[in-house]
Amino acid sequence: MPSGDAAAHHARRRPRAIAAVALSTVAAATIGIVIGSGFLSGGGDASPADAPAAAPAATSQATPSQATEPIVAPEVAGATAGPQVSVSPSLDLDQHSIDDPGSIWVVVNKHRPLDPIRYEPEELVSVGSGTQMTPEAASAFGALREAAADAGAGFSTSTAYRSHGFQAGLHADYVAKWGAARADDFSARPGYSEHQTGLAVDVYESAACRLKACFADETAGRWLAAHAHEHGFIVRYAEGAEDITGYRYEPWHLRYVGVELAAFMREQGIATLEEVFGVDPAPDFP
Ligand SMILES: [Zn+2]
Repeated sequence: MPSGDAAAHHARRRPRAIAAVALSTVAAATIGIVIGSGFLSGGGDASPADAPAAAPAATSQATPSQATEPIVAPEVAGATAGPQVSVSPSLDLDQHSIDDPGSIWVVVNKHRPLDPIRYEPEELVSVGSGTQMTPEAASAFGALREAAADAGAGFSTSTAYRSHGFQAGLHADYVAKWGAARADDFSARPGYSEHQTGLAVDVYESAACRLKACFADETAGRWLAAHAHEHGFIVRYAEGAEDITGYRYEPWHLRYVGVELAAFMREQGIATLEEVFGVDPAPDFP
């Protein structure tokens, strides 16, 4: 059963517009500091081979002016017309649980571990590259990958589902290498990773930009930013939302939430699950 985080559940009843404005204000006030720390890639994701060892290249995009821009879904220049997705402006945000790890709307972040912490999806199917997703997410991902390839924006899959045990090993490696505080900035603790739900997948185009912010500037990265929502995916760790999601910009980390919610967030210009559901920002582990 979903645990029902009482505080979070209550919080989501707040009018969304007000919640979003408040979050954006908080983020804008502190974002310059976070960006300034400079340690870019890796997200909840980096595989051992892609650990940020070579990554600390200073972030090129952080400028004072950007720090005060509102946090919105990415605008992509030259987005071509895709399938028109029509959603009701009054999408019922209670139709799926945000607590149940088997729900396509589950919100997992540094304040919201999976419950149970060693949760495993009931069923997983292969999405290639030796990795798996839940059947619904895998089906949507297959369609996304095909559409991208048709558009000349093909990409490869890094990892999708990661078990609690796998994430534990991964995180321990990072802690050993970087120290606990730094590791927590880019690697989820076991039980706190979206990958454990079977709804998240990391993709890449070139090896050079694998698990790095420069993926956003590659053909596939640009295409996904413009079209992932048409197949029910969002770029979960949005640019400029570190203080809300707890992770740096990860243009390669896609999270399946279904077409309805993905399109709704796009239309409303809401970049994060925390904002759309009105749950508290989770910049750090408690
Ligand atoms: Zn990821």
